Amino acid sequence: MRVILANPRGFCAGVRMAIDVVDQVLDLLPGETIYVYHEIVHNRHVVDRFKGRGVVFVEDVADVPEGQIVVFSAHGVSPAVRAAAKARNLTAIDATCPLVTKVHAEAIRYAKQGFQILLVGHKNHQEIVGTSGEAPEATQVVESPDDIPHLRIDDPDKLVYLTQTTLSTDDAGVIIDALKRAFPNIKAPPSEDICYATTNRQHAVRQIAPRCDLVLVVGSSNSSNSVRLTEIAQNVGTPGRRVDDASELDASWFEGVGTLMLTAGASAPEDLVAEICRWFVDRFGATLHIADVFEESVEFGLPVTLKRLMTEHDVDHKDRRVRVEPPTITAGEYGAAPVALTISTGDGAA
Ligand code: SF4
Repeated sequence: MRVILANPRGFCAGVRMAIDVVDQVLDLLPGETIYVYHEIVHNRHVVDRFKGRGVVFVEDVADVPEGQIVVFSAHGVSPAVRAAAKARNLTAIDATCPLVTKVHAEAIRYAKQGFQILLVGHKNHQEIVGTSGEAPEATQVVESPDDIPHLRIDDPDKLVYLTQTTLSTDDAGVIIDALKRAFPNIKAPPSEDICYATTNRQHAVRQIAPRCDLVLVVGSSNSSNSVRLTEIAQNVGTPGRRVDDASELDASWFEGVGTLMLTAGASAPEDLVAEICRWFVDRFGATLHIADVFEESVEFGLPVTLKRLMTEHDVDHKDRRVRVEPPTITAGEYGAAPVALTISTGDGAA
């Protein structure tokens, strides 16, 4: 069996930043209970590892004792949550991904200009709940073209669409085309809302999956971008499966599979991918091949409140940036020589 490891895969800059924030706070305040509003990122292992270090995850800021520290997850929160945290005198550290914050800022700006916002995304996803909360009166969520006839439109010339950052670019395209057909004057966001990490991981699947018998995605079931990767595989005609970790693998899935693509959603840790590689090597004598599709070089700064906390504890944060190191697994590590695969770099985003 050949296992083709997609690069990029796994952690994006926003997830790396959110995890670093909680790590930093734990280091700064040993012995204090740190609260996180919602799963810091949508990965069971990341959350369980933090729980093992004493972090308490809540779905309501009312569950955080007054005056304590709360970290907002990478998916962003609505102003109502920020206000509730303030009312409880909490120190709120906002680990929202800056690319989600960008969509919030667009929602605020368009609502102020009198636009109705059609927010393309999954209604119950934390990110959509947060973005809608910026302008609830002006926002309607569109999950599929079937929702379009039910929209309440005041002025078809004063409409804008925004999107969740982790959608399938295929699905979003279908919905946006339908919106444009229904409302020809609808405005597009000033720049693409689906983020670079989502776009690049999906494009890698489009490039590699057609030459594979199966695509395996590492990621949790509530990770939107991980689930979308399996759908993109299916869209290009290759079956896709998603697992949280190696313990969920079933050897019968791989009968007749000569070439497997292995990738990971933006919130899945690399050590889980490594475990899965080992499983294939041990069980099937698989050879690993690395497919470099894009190099990513996105980095983010730390949240202001965290920097303030670091200053208070004499920790130097000057020039501290959060960047994602490239995936660490090399084919040689598993006794096979790396094989360079030629993959088009297409229209990925860095
Ligand atoms: S998937 Fe995109 S929007 Fe979400 S945290 Fe990562 S970089 Fe940010």
